[in-house]
Amino acid sequence: MKTIYVDNAATTRLSDVAFEAMKPFMQDIYGNPSSLHHIGQTAKEYLDEARAKIAKCINAQPNEIYFTSGGSEADNQAILTAAYNGAKKGKKHIISSKFEHHAVLHTLDKLKNEGFEIQLLDVYKNGIIKVEDVKNALRNDTALVTIMTANNEVGTVQPIREIGEICKEKGVVFHTDAVQAIGHIKIDVSEMNVDMLSASAHKFHGPRGIGFLYCRKGILLQNLINGGAQERGKRAGTENTPAIIGMAAAIEDACEGLERNAEYISEIRDMIIDGCADIELSRLNGDRQNRLPGTINFCFEGIEGEGLLLLLDQYGICASSGSACTSGSLDPSHVLLSMGIPVAVAHGSLRISLSEENTKEEAQIIIDSIHKVVSYLRSISPVWEKIQKGEVVE
Ligand SMILES: *Cc1c(COP(=O)(O)O)cnc(C)c1O
Repeated sequence: MKTIYVDNAATTRLSDVAFEAMKPFMQDIYGNPSSLHHIGQTAKEYLDEARAKIAKCINAQPNEIYFTSGGSEADNQAILTAAYNGAKKGKKHIISSKFEHHAVLHTLDKLKNEGFEIQLLDVYKNGIIKVEDVKNALRNDTALVTIMTANNEVGTVQPIREIGEICKEKGVVFHTDAVQAIGHIKIDVSEMNVDMLSASAHKFHGPRGIGFLYCRKGILLQNLINGGAQERGKRAGTENTPAIIGMAAAIEDACEGLERNAEYISEIRDMIIDGCADIELSRLNGDRQNRLPGTINFCFEGIEGEGLLLLLDQYGICASSGSACTSGSLDPSHVLLSMGIPVAVAHGSLRISLSEENTKEEAQIIIDSIHKVVSYLRSISPVWEKIQKGEVVE
């Protein structure tokens, strides 16, 4: 049986380009970039080159890029920086949304415990924030607006440029978690008016455990990790050179192939959406148009997402019932609930997240398998029986 991997929003396969780029830095160019001898300095030159490549892909300056251990760390550092800088000026109000990643929401919980006022905006049924809501929420004591570029569970893309514009007008710091977006849709920090942006390599075919934070010049970045003077004193710890080189190779590759890949992947995406449209009492979650090229999220009434996943796995299909971080628990996803989807329905959710490595043949297998599995699970589901009889299920 062939493995069909469609869980790219959880993590992606390391690309050959990234893998090959990393190899020399494991055993040959292993010097510490802070060392003054030639092997350390060679590593430093490549590190600088990697930083420049990454900056170019998002239209930033190299000295605005800070390497982190991934998206979570970048989110933490960005949010805590803006909050504490704001607090120094008496600003303790923060605006975000209900369906952010937990790296954002849990950092905001911490700030709430420290006395910050956190305002989470609605994302509505289509999974898209209203620019008007951000405008209305902004206050004189707002320290930060943090809104994700694209949602990791449903794939909806937010009006980042417009939100950035109103934050800029008001002089409020704007951060975006662009982890799902980078390498998949065009990201230009200048055009989007963002001050801080988080990214993670393993979501665009780079290695896991490495990411970066873009922080606009002029913002005083606060440290999470104290120690050596790496990353211009803002993030201590010997640089993970192989991972950084791999991330740079992967982002360069993704940016070069962006339009071609987006077109190809969205064809497969639409094929799967259309191919499952005839399943009774199913729905596509999130706006049909404003979404990432590769992310699909369905709900099938009367079944459990976990059962769906396990049976699809038996057909070789690796998908997800929500985000990897929540699928350990049986609680329905906070993302789907925030979009007003009833608890019972949210339990039957399925996320399919594609990459350019998927094919149309695989899409057909996925469509056929979903039909088979949904109808089997419904045939043994007492909940489905009730729905069929017209009884209300909650
Ligand atoms: C994966 C993800 C993260 C976390 O990134 P890590 O590199 O795994 O820490 C943060 N935000 C979003 C939207 C993600 O999809």
